[in-house]
Amino acid sequence: MSFNSLGLSDALLKAINKKGYDTPSPIQEKAIPPILEGKDVLASAQTGTGKTAGFTLPLLQILSEGTTKRNRPVRALILTPTRELAAQIFENVKEYSEFLDIRSAVIFGGVNQRPQVAQLRRGVDVLVATPGRLLDLCNQNVLSLSSVEIFVLDEADRMLDMGFVRDIERIIKLIPKKRQNLMFSATFSKDIKKLANGILTYPVSVEATPENTTVEVIQQKVFRVAKGKKTGLVIKLISEGNWQQVLVFTRTKHGANNLTKKLISSGITAAAIHGNKSQGARTKALAGFKDGSIRVMVATDIAARGLDIPLLPHVINFEIPNISEDYVHRIGRTGRAGASGEAISLVSADETSFLADIQKLIGMKIPVEIIEGFEPDPNASTEPIKQGQGRSRNQRPKAGGNKTGNRNAKKSNTSNSGRRSRDRR
Ligand code: AMP
Repeated sequence: MSFNSLGLSDALLKAINKKGYDTPSPIQEKAIPPILEGKDVLASAQTGTGKTAGFTLPLLQILSEGTTKRNRPVRALILTPTRELAAQIFENVKEYSEFLDIRSAVIFGGVNQRPQVAQLRRGVDVLVATPGRLLDLCNQNVLSLSSVEIFVLDEADRMLDMGFVRDIERIIKLIPKKRQNLMFSATFSKDIKKLANGILTYPVSVEATPENTTVEVIQQKVFRVAKGKKTGLVIKLISEGNWQQVLVFTRTKHGANNLTKKLISSGITAAAIHGNKSQGARTKALAGFKDGSIRVMVATDIAARGLDIPLLPHVINFEIPNISEDYVHRIGRTGRAGASGEAISLVSADETSFLADIQKLIGMKIPVEIIEGFEPDPNASTEPIKQGQGRSRNQRPKAGGNKTGNRNAKKSNTSNSGRRSRDRR
């Protein structure tokens, strides 16, 4: 299938061509036609599937075919959980709307609101926002959402995970009841389905790929290693393999900082990206990582979620996640837009049961290797890592009957508890 046959306008096709895309990705093929028909869409797609263009292209087409009011109120609202993701979606919106008369803006917290307010005052058709700053600006009456025609909820599962459910409910109350809704989520727990029921009207469901199949095209490896030798092994792999762009996941912010320091002192350029880093520091790290001046980015799960880094060749799990679905998200960073990648997990004795859970989820055994000089400690306990070093398995909500289990916060996990778990990461 080609983009021409999806019913997109010449101005959009020109922008797509400029981006260098030849064919629509599966999610684009499936989501664009119903969105253009004005239907609500519930899409199962994770980052890397091309989902952003999947909702942005038809949204821009609908807006450009409609009537623009003189004062240019917000007509499309794209809500997303993290600042990085907001910034990336905004970049995409700008690129895809280059040949249209559409104005767009992005608002997120952690930076001065003045320039954002000034831009909103000039009039904006498409607004990309994180929930907190959006509500702040609405409360200050500098922004009205009463003309929103299309509402996009991106990464809905992560929104719930981060404790944004109340904020989403507040935002829904500020937008007109009659609107088109598009909801994207990588996983579908009971809570996500409940949220979808409250937002969407007779949605068309679309799926990027059957869940978790992406893992099959990524080369995965486990290195069994003693806990204390993991840093040395990471340094060896990166230097001897001469790897130039590596994303390393740690379970905690503290762990990310520690590893970054050690990489730098062994001569490997690295930066940490996590919830405690300022927006400026995160943007700088990401820019450095993209332009090649930083070889290694060390990230926690939440900070890395949604980062747009095409063609990522190497992902290392310094610690494997205790929430199995996070593993799928992490290694999905390597298989982007058809490019192949390698995902390596360093597994110490205390992570044995997490590895078993992951293998069960992805339905395959990951090949195991041991590197000389970095052998596992035969005397180490296989007792799982204790609570306080990331979300505990005991805190994990019960599987909600879906294939991937329920990775989201339970109803009781409201803003506070959700934010606590995010703070650690
Ligand atoms: P996303 O899942 O929206 O984060 O997109 C993942 C990456 O794929 C981004 O770098 C996009 O620029 C790229 N991309 C999106 N659609 C296509 C396409 N049809 N062909 C090639 N690359 C694409």
